Amino acid sequence: MQDAVTRLHEVRSRIAKAESQAGREAGAVALVAVSKTFEADAIRPVIEAGQRVFGENRVQEAQGKWPALKEEFREIELHLIGPLQSNKAKEAVALFDVIETVDREKIAKELAKEMKKQGRTPRLYVQVNTGLEEQKAGIDPRETVGFVERCRTEHGLRIEGLMCIPPFDENPGPHFALLEKLAREAGVAKLSMGMSGDYETAIAFGATSVRVGSAIFGER
Ligand SMILES: *Cc1c(COP(=O)(O)O)cnc(C)c1O
Repeated sequence: MQDAVTRLHEVRSRIAKAESQAGREAGAVALVAVSKTFEADAIRPVIEAGQRVFGENRVQEAQGKWPALKEEFREIELHLIGPLQSNKAKEAVALFDVIETVDREKIAKELAKEMKKQGRTPRLYVQVNTGLEEQKAGIDPRETVGFVERCRTEHGLRIEGLMCIPPFDENPGPHFALLEKLAREAGVAKLSMGMSGDYETAIAFGATSVRVGSAIFGER
């Protein structure tokens, strides 16, 4: 069984290869290492190996391990990649550097309020439910461009990118292509798409960041 650091290097080299095969610049794609369910002791070696960008899907879980790690390693960039409840907006703004799961008016409003209050400006992505899955968070693709615009005009929030999680039993390519098209229409530059099973595909479709968990940390 390989350790997380070995797997991190493997993922990094596969990203580099996928960038080159897609004709993308070296370093065009950021790696978000998804550390959900893993404790600080499992995460620390990966930080020490040079990884600085991490993703967590629960605010409360992240609050338990990241404040101390962020204190110890100052350049950590923490992404919230799980659904955000409006009653957790305060904690999310205080802890995360990037919030990838803005998907409705109420959240936009709460985030705007908290950002103003705390004087912190996490970067923001809108999550799009490209497969229109009932149980999944994210905004309807057809409402995405208008929502990005309203975030700016009504809430003063600059949306930097879009994020999606394709249905797990479908070919992800069309979902990545849809997200890329919506980003162009909405005038946003960043695309967070691709996980352990499909990050190379996502890179071919223009991902600017991939969220990789189990391929680095192992099965959850
Ligand atoms: C858990 C998770 C990931 C990482 O999934 P892996 O298949 O373990 O790479 C990526 N994105 C989101 C939103 C997640 O919740």
